[in-house]
Amino acid sequence: MIVDEFSLKHPDNCHRRRSSRILPLDSSNPNFIQVERLFSKGWRHSQKTKPVVRAVFKILSLDESLESYAIYRRVQAFNLLTRYKKGSNEQLCFHGTRRSCALGDDGSQVFLCQSPECSICSIIRASFDVSKCGRFLPQFGRGIYTTSCSSKADDYYSSGRSARQHPGNLRVLLLNRVVVGKPHNRRHNAPQMNQPPPGFHSVVGLPGVDLNYEETVVYHNDAIRPAYLVVYGPPMARSASKAHALLSALFKTPLAA
Ligand SMILES: [Zn+2]
Repeated sequence: MIVDEFSLKHPDNCHRRRSSRILPLDSSNPNFIQVERLFSKGWRHSQKTKPVVRAVFKILSLDESLESYAIYRRVQAFNLLTRYKKGSNEQLCFHGTRRSCALGDDGSQVFLCQSPECSICSIIRASFDVSKCGRFLPQFGRGIYTTSCSSKADDYYSSGRSARQHPGNLRVLLLNRVVVGKPHNRRHNAPQMNQPPPGFHSVVGLPGVDLNYEETVVYHNDAIRPAYLVVYGPPMARSASKAHALLSALFKTPLAA
């Protein structure tokens, strides 16, 4: 059974490179445009220069993994429907983490590495694992942290390589499907938490007191699946258009200017 459009077996994804788990999207693809819009809208740190999205890859998963996510989403939607007449409140949220390889740096870098240090590849391969998250997190305890704020997620990106090893100083973020359900909104930290309060499905930290930017935390592995790998870099001067053309040729797809 093919669960949804993120399935490795979905016909839309059949032109991926053999054994690759990510598929480059053309810049005219509606999903590329949606991801780019969310990234741009979510860049809220005025002191950080807004980068440009250079490529978007769709993340493909095994049907078993997508099925357990779909079941979790259906159960939460049912709970909300019976109580609040709402859907599962699924949202797309960013997550920044460590990349130890060159995944996404160009159109040929589409194969996951085996390094245990590379969180990006590990999450794309097997999704998130709350047991691997830090035990004593200052905000809302041991959970899976995401945010609509791309510039905040960018703070958590790190690379095991030097900037020079990433052509164009490209960085990456994961954009994830998150079942937010009924969120427990908080303005104060609660580091002892390891689940939402009864009747809630997630914790949303609101800016204003302990936080400067929003964050959404889920505590169940099946409440989240990685959906897109976003590749971005600093805006290019006009003189760099030659390099842009080269990068575009490497991706074999038009890149956003
Ligand atoms: Zn990797």
